[in-house]
Amino acid sequence: IWSEALDGLEPRLDRQTFDMWLRPIRLARVEGNLLQLRAPNRFLKEWFETHYLDLALDELELRHERKFEVAIEVVEEAGEATRGQLEVVVDHPATRSSEISHGRDSGAAGEQPSAYRVSPRRGAPPRGLHPRYRFDSFIKGASNELAASAAMAAADEPGTRFNPLFIYGGVGLGKTHLLHGVGHELHRKDPNLRIVYLSAEQFMNEFVTAVRNNEFDEFRARYRRDCDCLLIDDIQFIAGRDRTMDEFFHVFNALYEAGKQIVVTADRVPADMAGMEERLTSRLNWGLVADVQLPDLETRIAIVQTKAARDDMELSPEVALSIAELVRSNVRELEGALLRVTAFAQLRGVEIDPAFVRSVLGKTTTDKLPVTIEAVQKAVAAYFSVKISDLKGKRRHRGISRPRMIAMYLCRQLTGSSFPEIGMRFGGKDHSTVINACKRIEALAKEDEDLHAAVESLRGQLSAA
Ligand code: ADP
Ligand code: MG
Repeated sequence: IWSEALDGLEPRLDRQTFDMWLRPIRLARVEGNLLQLRAPNRFLKEWFETHYLDLALDELELRHERKFEVAIEVVEEAGEATRGQLEVVVDHPATRSSEISHGRDSGAAGEQPSAYRVSPRRGAPPRGLHPRYRFDSFIKGASNELAASAAMAAADEPGTRFNPLFIYGGVGLGKTHLLHGVGHELHRKDPNLRIVYLSAEQFMNEFVTAVRNNEFDEFRARYRRDCDCLLIDDIQFIAGRDRTMDEFFHVFNALYEAGKQIVVTADRVPADMAGMEERLTSRLNWGLVADVQLPDLETRIAIVQTKAARDDMELSPEVALSIAELVRSNVRELEGALLRVTAFAQLRGVEIDPAFVRSVLGKTTTDKLPVTIEAVQKAVAAYFSVKISDLKGKRRHRGISRPRMIAMYLCRQLTGSSFPEIGMRFGGKDHSTVINACKRIEALAKEDEDLHAAVESLRGQLSAA
């Protein structure tokens, strides 16, 4: 009931506002007409009450045709509650957790001295940043606009506006690039900032090593005291690893309370990380949560052109277009494809044209031939025995609106087309209709197994074609 109301509100607000002020408000329970909500902190509660409560009540009334009341409680977790457990680990190596044996098995920790096991020095460039992953080489598009802008804002005014900044999305979509970008930019502006960048896996290994070698004081100093900005990649890695989560929780608190900027990436939203402690997911939601999505065609073309130019390769617009059309899965694949095409051309001493691109990528790319919007509409219509004209039409009957939403969702997922483009091809609907359809299906698929099965079967059918 609450999440439905939120879904309804989302298109009425801009994304950033929504993520920042509404998304963190959770439903605790429903008693008749009273919704008991939960906010992660008092500030958020008050802000919500003064700015968005009316809107939310309005939406609820609209949906359910009756009036609701809302009560909001603040659920703040005690920051130091689990400190004791950590000390137990340090004092009694025999109680080592599974994480510790994991670190040992993988050989990743301890055996080799790690570059990270020293506190950062003021003035020194941050460790571990890829020299090319800077903001100026990052192409912005609708798919990554919010994440990129927020990353830049965080680098501009660290610790103030978007803290923590949480960037999530699928593989190869630029999360790491943006994270490094923040590090480069912060260092450029203030070389004295002590910037710590590492993956969550490295963080775990460092922690395990520190515990094993009785270097916990050094560890604590490095991440809690001698750090002005913490950039952590792929936080989902520590989900389910209790000691590491605990430790990260304390690091987070120490830095957050000191007003230090924290940027975290992950492959999904905090709430979807199975095994992640709730007090951590709630903290990760405190600041701004921004996603990176599959880039649309225009952005892919811009990326291909920029990468080519960077490597002094000449690429005609038609060639850039043909590569961008064939590779839709992610930016990393796109880079690989560009490399393959140019390498082959050099090898054979031929000019690159679209036909050449197709001959090279047609066979080797992991992408299948692009799925078209027509193909999705046809498959969905056949699956649910409805007419394609109904999918494009306006009838709201559930037997038609469901397939229509599924078709829109699959178009978005499989064709790389933009929301406006999909809307246009469904009888000229507004892009917000498409966005809502995608959200609805995503939400429904989690609850409704039949729908989930239908979507997956269609996805399989279309991707295999
Ligand atoms: P992720 O961390 O999301 O898996 P990465 O940040 O490692 O993805 O990006 C994969 C590759 O794609 C990198 O080489 C990165 O530079 C490039 N890339 C991703 N998005 C963009 C973009 N918008 N503009 C330029 N390069 C990008
Ligand atoms: Mg990454």
